[in-house]
Amino acid sequence: MIRISHLSKRYQTAHGVTEAIRDISFDVAQGEFVSVVGPSGAGKSTLLKALAGLHQPSSGAVQYQGKAITGPQKDFAVVFQDYARSLYPWLTLERNITLPLDNLIGSAKERSRIATDFLARVGLAGMGKKRPSQISGGQQQRVAIARALAYSPKVLIMDEPFASVDAQTRAELEDLVLQLKQETEATVILVTHDIDEATYMSDRIVVLSRAPSVVLKEVVVNLPPVRDQIGTKSLPQFSSVRAEVLQSIRNPEALVAA
Ligand code: ADP
Repeated sequence: MIRISHLSKRYQTAHGVTEAIRDISFDVAQGEFVSVVGPSGAGKSTLLKALAGLHQPSSGAVQYQGKAITGPQKDFAVVFQDYARSLYPWLTLERNITLPLDNLIGSAKERSRIATDFLARVGLAGMGKKRPSQISGGQQQRVAIARALAYSPKVLIMDEPFASVDAQTRAELEDLVLQLKQETEATVILVTHDIDEATYMSDRIVVLSRAPSVVLKEVVVNLPPVRDQIGTKSLPQFSSVRAEVLQSIRNPEALVAA
């Protein structure tokens, strides 16, 4: 469904050229949950921006259903890391969520019902009339997640979406995303530096090297499809996937040599 082939990205800056991504290739099948992990500065956000159609690769290609991604896709919803800039400050939380639905759902009442439902599902029941400046950063991030999920996208792309919330909320949001993924059969690509999170949520983990990045390893997560925070994390397969990913990040030379 999504194909990234020999993607490379160099940024031209006042100080010269920064090579963020050297050569990344991997595919994502329909309905699959793929996490991308790697050290800070490995080009993970750069990769997601290429997927979101926000910038063009220096070489290589990013394709969706066989066509090059050259701009934002209507089938995609993207949750960016920078929540402070992802909501419209002058709109209420409810309107922030209903805006992308305007062209999809004719009834304003139905759009409003969906917004109310998703605000409740991210733990912000009754806050629809507030504006982003009236809630905390972690709450703003939850609104950004609610907006993406309410859109019911075919492809959900998330860049460190749970970074600014407490541990309990994080676990709840992980489970909400998994539940909605099951319900809607969406394809999900998640960037995270949290290996436990990647293991818990994914079908497959793509491990990137330091910049300029290449794919070090792809790890298939053979855990039962229905996950739960305590049971899944106690399974021996969970520890072995986690160890395999950690090992490839800590000791990339061994993989390159192999
Ligand atoms: P990650 O998300 O893995 O932390 P990024 O994709 O944010 O990595 O960044 C990868 C590299 O590209 C870093 O060296 C970063 O400084 C550089 N970079 C990212 N965005 C830009 C930009 N707009 N202009 C110049 N350099 C950039």
